[in-house]
Amino acid sequence: MNVQHHLTDETIQDYAAGSLTASMETLVACHLTVCNQCRHKAMLAENVGGSLFDDMEPAAVAGSAMDLLARAAMMPEHSAPSSPASKPAFKGVPLPLARQLPADLDDLDWRRIAPGIKQFNLSSQHRKHGAFQLLHLDPGVVLSAHSHNDRELTYLVQGSYTDEIGQFKAGDIADLDGHDQTHQPVVDSKEPCIALIATQSPVNYSGVFSKIMQPFVGI
Ligand SMILES: [Zn+2]
Repeated sequence: MNVQHHLTDETIQDYAAGSLTASMETLVACHLTVCNQCRHKAMLAENVGGSLFDDMEPAAVAGSAMDLLARAAMMPEHSAPSSPASKPAFKGVPLPLARQLPADLDDLDWRRIAPGIKQFNLSSQHRKHGAFQLLHLDPGVVLSAHSHNDRELTYLVQGSYTDEIGQFKAGDIADLDGHDQTHQPVVDSKEPCIALIATQSPVNYSGVFSKIMQPFVGI
């Protein structure tokens, strides 16, 4: 997998420190299954954190971040044949995401929210606390222009889109924070584009129609 867009160092450090939300940890873990570069950085960040904390409380350091990292490192890029004892992995879906899906991508109970746009919500929280969802976008779909109050992570599961930042393909991660400009993704793959999105707070939409759509899209 030819990954072009990566996690920022800040996000990797937060991941290693265990301070990301559970939904964002899932996105980071998905990217780490396909990206040696970010996986290496995450391990370095974990080691730095570990050596800093060694003087204070050695036992508490190895905790969840290292466990997550170890699990991510073991995750195969492509799903292995499932055994009867384990939950079946879904084709083309990284294991950290597959674990949270009730069915294959084709069989999910997608909710149509606009022409060419379907959503599958992975969070039971109110959207004011941020979103954790899959978006299924038909070829040619243009998303509403929006900017961000806070960190937003998008992992491309399938297909591709292009926005002001560049083209994002399967395996890429868009790691945006509140300082980024307004962007407007356009799906440019022949197959539907499926994106996993985690936000910490609702985004700012630019147009009137978008403001009407926001409660439904929830991002
Ligand atoms: Zn990367």
